[in-house]
Amino acid sequence: MFPMVTGFINYGQQSVRATRYIGQSFIITLSHANRLPITIQYPYEKLITSERFRGRIHFEFDKCIACEVCVRVCPIDLPVVDWKLETEIRKKCLLNYSIDFGICIFCGNCIEYCPTNCLSMTEEYELSTYDRHELNYNQIALGRLPMSVIDDPTIKNFKNF
Ligand code: SF4
Ligand code: SF4
Repeated sequence: MFPMVTGFINYGQQSVRATRYIGQSFIITLSHANRLPITIQYPYEKLITSERFRGRIHFEFDKCIACEVCVRVCPIDLPVVDWKLETEIRKKCLLNYSIDFGICIFCGNCIEYCPTNCLSMTEEYELSTYDRHELNYNQIALGRLPMSVIDDPTIKNFKNF
């Protein structure tokens, strides 16, 4: 008699526990259903980058003194600084400047150490291309100001990073 009663009690306890677990999982499911999605419908929606986002580098040709500090501090000696010495004024004259974004790791060292602040990081992150050679930006491409994501007329919704 007693084993049967004990069996019934155990069965009842297990049923209560199982019901409680089902209830808890149901509450978790409901709480997730109430949240907004984390993912966005890129490229129809875009994220607004954070203030210190490390995007494509912007370069100001007129401010550069061809000191090559950016090359020395770059972990992969990436920036190409092409200059000639003007003997009359005993000064370096910058001819060309380029950075290959196919190799750049966006560490920001060049920006940090440039003595004339002619380098800065923009919020531009859409750099993909079909030809990797197009990622080698010269001073003209580097000098282009980025378009703010907020000014992009094709984008409907924005979210912060
Ligand atoms: S550190 Fe700045 S000023 Fe010097 S070469 Fe590089 S970009 Fe030009
Ligand atoms: S961001 Fe870093 S890797 Fe890229 S050019 Fe500057 S120092 Fe070199």
